[in-house]
Amino acid sequence: METGSRIETESQPLACEEESYAKEFMDDLRRADRCDWCGRDKRKNRVGLCRHCNEIRKKLRKLEKVVLTSKPNFMLDWELKVLQQKKKDCVAWGQMLQGVLGAVDALDLEHWFCMITQHIARDDRMHYGTATMLGWIFTAEQRQVLAYMFWEIFGAHASHNRQNRAAYFA
Ligand SMILES: [Zn+2]
Repeated sequence: METGSRIETESQPLACEEESYAKEFMDDLRRADRCDWCGRDKRKNRVGLCRHCNEIRKKLRKLEKVVLTSKPNFMLDWELKVLQQKKKDCVAWGQMLQGVLGAVDALDLEHWFCMITQHIARDDRMHYGTATMLGWIFTAEQRQVLAYMFWEIFGAHASHNRQNRAAYFA
């Protein structure tokens, strides 16, 4: 009897602590210094961009000048389109982060899980329709922590494949 009540009083604050850890973790993420385009917390340069985004910015600026001063050239035009698409892709990831840092509802989390299963298990239906369950299991802050970690993973993946995707969409 005595032991039972002791466990009860000990386990209660622990559950609250877990929640506050998630909240603290998210507060730290909101305070992090981030790249103005992609939102990753990599080291930034003086224009506010990470090395990856800054390379794209420099190439884009250089090519824009070349295109302006040279005769019409479809190869240059295509290269320019690809670079513009790459920039757009970087900025889109940064905007996605703003969503994650704002609020993540259960349906958002379900989308991230579906993205994982599609990439790894090649099955986008595996966790389809699990939003309600995810909402019961994870608190609002815990959902954000998970979504942030997924965003980090897929953001790195996107940066490794940016050239191919930009060429595809250009
Ligand atoms: Zn960046």
